Amino acid sequence: MDDKKISIAVIKRLPRYYRYLSDLLDAGITKISSKELSERMDLTASQVRQDFNCFGGFGQQGYGYNVRKLYEEIAEILGIEQAYDVVMVGAGNMGQAVAKYDNFKRRGYNLNAIFDINPDVVGNTIAGIPVYHLDDMVEYIKTHKTDIVTLTVPAKVGTTIVDMIGGLGIKGIWNFSYADLHEAAEKYGIIVENVHLSDSLMILGYRLHTEK
Ligand code: ATP
Repeated sequence: MDDKKISIAVIKRLPRYYRYLSDLLDAGITKISSKELSERMDLTASQVRQDFNCFGGFGQQGYGYNVRKLYEEIAEILGIEQAYDVVMVGAGNMGQAVAKYDNFKRRGYNLNAIFDINPDVVGNTIAGIPVYHLDDMVEYIKTHKTDIVTLTVPAKVGTTIVDMIGGLGIKGIWNFSYADLHEAAEKYGIIVENVHLSDSLMILGYRLHTEK
């Protein structure tokens, strides 16, 4: 399987397939047709077939898909079997909410340390995770395996943080801040995934006044 050939549009649907297939396995279902799966997921059967064809199929005409094989393949593509070491910068409201949400840990993303500059939070723990001063971050990353930095800081400090971690071997940034990091990340070869909750809310607002 060459995952470079899978388009980002397909990749974006994989977590949802993964959750559905997990539910099917829990229910003891071992085979499912593209039609059944598409109905459950509100997609078209041809969309499901096209998506699964991208990474090897696992279906046979008339017999349906092997649920476990698909589940395992999607887990591999998403890197779910892999464990990632994560640090977070910014222990404000958003940082604390993300740190407390332990679903990420079950997916193999281990949050090991949090950094901030606010003396009210430095020295505390959040969900059992220590909060250190930002001044200690570079040394921490140099001495502790760290794959991902989660950014929950104000927009204006986002690029400063990327400049601090660039060249330290960080592979990805999970960017909740509104800083536009594409240039900085390109410079250091770091992959950025943005999570902009207010943007999502604005889209809901737009849909409410256009679709209702
Ligand atoms: P949130 O936006 O998450 O609700 P908040 O409103 O409490 O948080 P923000 O001003 O957005 O606060 O800052 C988020 C966190 O980032 C705060 O805990 C703040 O102390 C921290 N922070 C601000 N500047 C830096 C920096 N340069 N390095 C590390 N942390 C920082």
